[in-house]
Amino acid sequence: SLTLQQADRDLWGVIDAERQRQQHSIELIASENFVSRAVLETLGSVLTNKYAEGYPGRRYYGGCLHADTAENMAIERATRLFGCEYANVQPHSGSQANQAVFLAFLAPGDKVLGLDLKAGGHLTHGARANISGRWFQAISYGVDPVSHRVDMDEVERIARRERPRLIIAGGSAYSRTLDFARFRAIADDVGALFMADMAHVAGLVAGGVFPSPVPFAHVTTTTTHKTLRGPRGGMILGNDGEIMKKINSAVFPGLQSGPLMHIIAAKAVALGEALHPTFHAYAQTVVENAQALCGRLAEGGLSIVSGGTDCHLGVIDLRPWGLAGNVAEHALEQVGLTLNKNTVPNDETGPTVTSGIRVGSAACTSRGMGPDEFREIGDMILALLGGVRAGAIDSRTESSIREGVAELTRRFPLPY
Ligand code: PLP
Repeated sequence: SLTLQQADRDLWGVIDAERQRQQHSIELIASENFVSRAVLETLGSVLTNKYAEGYPGRRYYGGCLHADTAENMAIERATRLFGCEYANVQPHSGSQANQAVFLAFLAPGDKVLGLDLKAGGHLTHGARANISGRWFQAISYGVDPVSHRVDMDEVERIARRERPRLIIAGGSAYSRTLDFARFRAIADDVGALFMADMAHVAGLVAGGVFPSPVPFAHVTTTTTHKTLRGPRGGMILGNDGEIMKKINSAVFPGLQSGPLMHIIAAKAVALGEALHPTFHAYAQTVVENAQALCGRLAEGGLSIVSGGTDCHLGVIDLRPWGLAGNVAEHALEQVGLTLNKNTVPNDETGPTVTSGIRVGSAACTSRGMGPDEFREIGDMILALLGGVRAGAIDSRTESSIREGVAELTRRFPLPY
């Protein structure tokens, strides 16, 4: 039979161009990573052909012997890695993992309390445009205007006043640890369910360098493709059998039908990698690298939201330099530095403009880069944004940044 290149040269060309883009640029998008060859191979495996509605041992299709084994391996590894009793590894995405929690425990109109999108929360935590904000009564807590940290006294005050059915901790652009024990105490106090969404930091939790929400939350959701370095997908973890029974019914048949067996198998492979002793060093380097990058940007005169980071990401406030996030994102992309614009606390602009950028270290750490390289990347960002700020980037600066990107990406190649 034909290879992709022979069967569909056009689409093969698109994928090859994307492979080269990844190979030749510096990936700083905080939600991205590079999977191993083993994970990539699993994603392209024959498991994509298989229907396996239901759960291991209780399928609605024949021929599920190997699908059962793969899913059981993913479940066993997830529970061992995160130290919990139960795992549902079927959610197609992080959003669907969160929706499964809503479907299991909420009715339309119920109150949900989560971190404000503008303060670093995620769309699925009650943003108005999302189903979480349209079907539920979403209320939010923000961050302290000076420290930029979640103020747990404020969370408690809002929870006591509003008495939400569900309290969510976690976010997409929040760089500090969270007090998960206090979240649980507040939830217990007001009779709410406590859901931790550790999508961004799951790999750091797995590597033992970030506090785990799993012992405290009634239910923990995550994606598997960010710091955890697995395939795109979601996962739900818990310790309470009754809660997890409801979650299982919410995922299937509540929200999804056929599980993506190739992705579930790839989750098993990635979870196996995260269980390997070397993953701790990876997670630790991810945090050191983010701190090195944020530190360099701060030394260069940029303002870091909350003054630094405890994890893999940093949010940079560009207002002191009078720059908009969308302009910075575009200018940086032109020289091979890929990141995203991001709102900052008290941002007066909207999500398509923004006053900040978000940087992340998980992907380039997977390529083998360390703090020295991240400081070098910080210098490139400073030089480029300095030019944008001055009104024009001189061609010498631009070509020296391009050379720096080429040199780093050559020295730390991707394995595919
Ligand atoms: N939760 C958080 C905290 C996230 O950052 C993301 C990623 O965007 C999601 C959920 C949603 O994940 P997905 O993009 O897989 O739907």
